[in-house]
Amino acid sequence: MFTLLMLGPPGAGKGTQSKMLAEKYNLMHVSTGELLRSEINRKTETGLIAQYHIDQGNLVPDDILIAMLRELLDTHKGINGFIFDGFPRTIPQAEAFDAMLEERNTAVNLVLALKVSEAELLIRLLKRAEVEGRSDDKPEIIRQRIHNYNNQTKPLLDYYSGHEVLTTLYGIGQIPDIFNLACLEVEEYINLS
Ligand code: AMP
Repeated sequence: MFTLLMLGPPGAGKGTQSKMLAEKYNLMHVSTGELLRSEINRKTETGLIAQYHIDQGNLVPDDILIAMLRELLDTHKGINGFIFDGFPRTIPQAEAFDAMLEERNTAVNLVLALKVSEAELLIRLLKRAEVEGRSDDKPEIIRQRIHNYNNQTKPLLDYYSGHEVLTTLYGIGQIPDIFNLACLEVEEYINLS
């Protein structure tokens, strides 16, 4: 099983690139943000808890995400591969995920980190707010999400760099150009393994 992670701040283009990579390499695209929004729409207990945190621009508690991922791995045994978009977002999530994969005799193979300046992120997210109307795309909430990324998610860059699976891509420019760079990294990994 091939496990690819897309890491990056909100608005870096993780969703766009992940969907394109999933299609090209026949991987299941898993966006934990989308999974949580679906729980919210279905008004489940998890959805209620998630909404409270998401609306404040904060991360949803680790135990919820870890349980969600465990169930996902169990229901998709024998799959070709996954691309995770927005997971993990904290060190405890990454550690729990590594342990889950190890139990299944597999591991994270490649982490693509998208790098985009904060000024550009703000512009993109404000534009997305107009188009999609997401409840967490309001200016003060966007700032909180970027702040939380810097404090809670950015340490994952060192974590995965220490595991020698991290590659950084500059997420500025045309979407197809960034996609081509991402494909080169995936293919280099595939050719070397
Ligand atoms: P996204 O669609 O990836 O931007 O996620 C939207 C929101 O869902 C985030 O701002 C978080 O509040 C929550 N979320 C998504 N993935 C995670 C995760 N791995 N850990 C905690 N919260 C998450």
